[in-house]
Parts: sequence; C-alpha cells; structure tokens
Amino acid sequence: MNTKKYRVGEGGKLKLSAFKTNETGKGSEAEALARIDARRPRLAALQERLYAEGQQSLLMVLQARDAGGKDGTVKHVMYGLNPQGVTVTSFKVPTPLELSHDFLWRVHAVAPAAGMMAVFNRSHYEDVLVTRVHGLIGEAEVKRRYEHIRAFEALLNGGHTRIVKLYLHVSKEEQKQRLQARLDDPEKRWKFNVGDLKERERWDDYTKAYEDTISATSSRTAPWYVIPADHKWFRNDLIGQILQDTLENMNPQFPEPDFDPRTVEIK
Ligand code: AMP
Ligand code: MG
Repeated sequence: MNTKKYRVGEGGKLKLSAFKTNETGKGSEAEALARIDARRPRLAALQERLYAEGQQSLLMVLQARDAGGKDGTVKHVMYGLNPQGVTVTSFKVPTPLELSHDFLWRVHAVAPAAGMMAVFNRSHYEDVLVTRVHGLIGEAEVKRRYEHIRAFEALLNGGHTRIVKLYLHVSKEEQKQRLQARLDDPEKRWKFNVGDLKERERWDDYTKAYEDTISATSSRTAPWYVIPADHKWFRNDLIGQILQDTLENMNPQFPEPDFDPRTVEIK
C-alpha cells in the first residue's frame, strides 16, 4: 500500500477539496481487513523493539472534526500493542491551570519518553483550530503559534522523537450520518454532544483553519497525512501502513547486553 500520495509536502498551499474523503483504494474491504490482521504481529514486534531499545520515541497526532473517527482510530492503533509502551492522551478544553501556562505546556508534559509511543487524540493543534474559529485568538497570534509549533516539533525531532500527524478527512454528509447514529443508538448516545452541531455550522471556517494549519506545519520530519476517513476500514488500513512504515524506518534494535551471556551461570 503506497502511503506517499496522502502525505502533505513542505511549503505550498493545501486544498482539502483536492483530497477524497471516500477513497477505498484498489482492493476490497475484505482484502483490507486481511491486511490489517496480517500487519498486527509486525507492528507488535516493532513496538517491542522500540520499547526494549529505549532510544527513540514515536508521536502520532490525531486531528479531525467531530465524529471524524479519532476514538475509533485510537482503538485500532492500540490493539495488539503492549500497553506498557504506549500512552494515549485525549486533549480537552484546557483547565484554568493549563490556561495559566503557555499552550504547549500541557503538551510537552506528555510527549513520549524514549522507548515510548504516544498517541494524541486532539493536540496542540486545537490551539490554532477551535480557538481561531471561535475568535479567541487573532490572525497574528495564529501565525505566532504556527512558529511555536514548528519550533516545538523541531525540538522533539532533534531529540529522540519521530512525529506523524494524521488529519482524518470526512465529508459533511458522513459526519451527519455519524452524528445521527449517535443520536439514534442508545449505546452511542453518550458521545452525542449538542455543541458539536454548532461546530458543524462552522464547517467552512474549520476547513480553512485546517488548510492553513496543515500547510504551515507539514514538514519532512513532522509530516501531515490527509487520511480519507469516510470508510473506517480504509482509514485503519492506511494508518496501520503509515505506522508500520514509520517504525520500519526508525529501525529500533534490541540492545546489546553489557555482559557476556556465555559467562553467566544461573545456579
Ligand atoms: P472530545 O474530543 O469530543 O472529547 O471533545 C473535546 C473538546 O475539547 C472539543 O470540543 C475540543 O475542541 C476541545 N478542546 C481540546 N483542546 C482544546 C484547546 N486547546 N482549546 C479549546 N478547546 C479545546
Ligand atoms: Mg466530541
């Protein structure tokens, strides 16, 4: 599976309308599900090595509109990995304490330690998306924050952290159907948030905010991917492949023992 065409290059101006939300690739759903299953043991083995090596870390940032599939993606990505080596952080409306610090304070605190993989369900990108759409910050501050984000991610990159950022791209119609399902299904209703309808009314503002943000912050070392996300199975297959490719490229190794195993006798 070729993931390159979903990767956003550095510089230039991204148009989300140029990306399909309902792509299904060449194969069938059954083939994708088989690929996902086949990939799991390799992902688990790579994560085990990352943890054992303890030298590098991976940060996966998930951003999407409401009902875009962030929670489902977290479940999918985590499945089969060793929980001891993975952290998941879901970023909510900042608390008064968090607001009394700079916007990256709460984010840096949960960036992955060496050996760890971290998944961000929402992230520091909320601070240039929802805040901007709601007019909590002006355009000059948005630009300053892009600079801060670029510098912050470069700081992590310069250490041991590889960063992959995923925008789950769903259509307005698909969002409508998912919100409706949350409303109708008693077991999904807990996820329904009346406030999400207000955000939906600002669909075009969010589109622009995402386009500007992704354009300004995609880099070779911390790339954005636009993931067609109307079909969950395609989304999961593509994200699994991106995760595998990234870990393969990081090529974590089991550490060499600092003793000669042949000289150790266990009595
Ligand atoms: P959910 O992901 O459905 O649990 O909702 C979390 C809510 O927190 C969303 O409405 C986000 O927009 C909001 N949120 C997350 N981070 C921030 C932030 N930095 N500033 C303002 N709102 C945020
Ligand atoms: Mg929500």
